[in-house]
Amino acid sequence: MTLFVNPDRLQADFDAVSAIGAFEDEDGHRGVDRPALSPAHLEARAWFLARAREAGLETRVDAAGNHSAILRADRGDLTPPAPLPLREGGRKDELETRTPPLGEGGRKAEPERRTLLLGSHLDSVPKGGRFDGALGVVAALEALRTVQEAGLRLPVDLEAIDFTDEEGTLLGELGSGALAGSLAPEALQRPRGGRQRLAEGLARAGLDERRLFEARRDPASLAGYLELHIEQGPRLVQSAIAIGVVTGIVGITNYQLIYRGAANHSGTTPMESRRDAGLGASTFALTARELVLRDYDGCAVNVGQMRFEPGAFNIIPGLAELALEFRAPDSKRLGELEDALLTLAGLVARQYGLGLDLEPRGGCLPAPMSERAQAAIAAAADSLALTRTNLPSGAGHDAQSLAPITPSGMIFIPSRDGISHSPREFSDWQACVDGANVLLRAALKMAETD
Ligand SMILES: [Zn+2]
Repeated sequence: MTLFVNPDRLQADFDAVSAIGAFEDEDGHRGVDRPALSPAHLEARAWFLARAREAGLETRVDAAGNHSAILRADRGDLTPPAPLPLREGGRKDELETRTPPLGEGGRKAEPERRTLLLGSHLDSVPKGGRFDGALGVVAALEALRTVQEAGLRLPVDLEAIDFTDEEGTLLGELGSGALAGSLAPEALQRPRGGRQRLAEGLARAGLDERRLFEARRDPASLAGYLELHIEQGPRLVQSAIAIGVVTGIVGITNYQLIYRGAANHSGTTPMESRRDAGLGASTFALTARELVLRDYDGCAVNVGQMRFEPGAFNIIPGLAELALEFRAPDSKRLGELEDALLTLAGLVARQYGLGLDLEPRGGCLPAPMSERAQAAIAAAADSLALTRTNLPSGAGHDAQSLAPITPSGMIFIPSRDGISHSPREFSDWQACVDGANVLLRAALKMAETD
């Protein structure tokens, strides 16, 4: 059977969700402002569940607030599970279909039937674009409806999932991390967006911080994860290729570098005998760029912040602090780049007679996408006669959380001018429909080969 999504229904959904939290910039570009668990974000999530129910799909909200629409493989001949009791203060629509935590009741009858997840996120960065995340969620919902309408029985359940806080206005990949079991309790104590914002958001959504971990799913219950997303970079658009088959999501390492020199009079200290920490920091930033351009294709380095002390017109900087971030597509490359950059930092310190402190500031491991998922996406693109290329993702995504526990894959479509996280973010509508069809067909392929 050759299936296509319904492009009109997909567009109606995309337009409807784009109107939630909508704003316009001074040039008339339309974006959305839906930070995680803000009122606009919760409205978008409620809209998603309502659309799923209209289609006759089962819905569910887990303990981390992830919102799902589910198409059961054995629909029609399954007695619906009894609703859980309503928690005090909770919203009925969130709780009525809440699935019991792992290992309890409910689905034990058919442990052999697994779930193929299709999804993305409905939250946005503050004043972000309409396509980032939302396209993947509406396309996932549309894929379920298409399979349902075709009367197709797959060997797996299909679940369209909208993950909580992908963008990190609170913590980053909170929902997908909770589902994958990688959300650390310590991370909740030091969230990127601050404790207060997290607590307020959770309260607004009726979520209990202590119970977020109950969203964890048994990897054996999952058949895989597929995500359609805009590229957010210029490679596809520049090469006029329709589909990006993501090979992996880059790993990121952060360091705080501190060069220590000698603060001194800027006029009376001879130029040749200064120990200028600012010059060391600047030399490092320039040379690190050259190093990556020359030897580390596919990698990136960023000095995102530089601070000098004492910090005055007439004082040689005695201390310079740098925020260093670098990215590589696989662990081996990330390790090599780390060695090269830290060696460089040491060489620069010697050159300028400076002391050097290196403080690791965390990061995340590279997440290679599954070979099987990549093959399914490539075959789907070929079946639609769409041009394709393999490429790594330089940005983080929920697939990063999922990849360690289940075969995961991502489909990229071109972003106009490579712009994202901005109301100027845009993808041609036909490219969105093509991406949704690739998602649908890759899902069928994954389901068949599970
Ligand atoms: Zn995104």
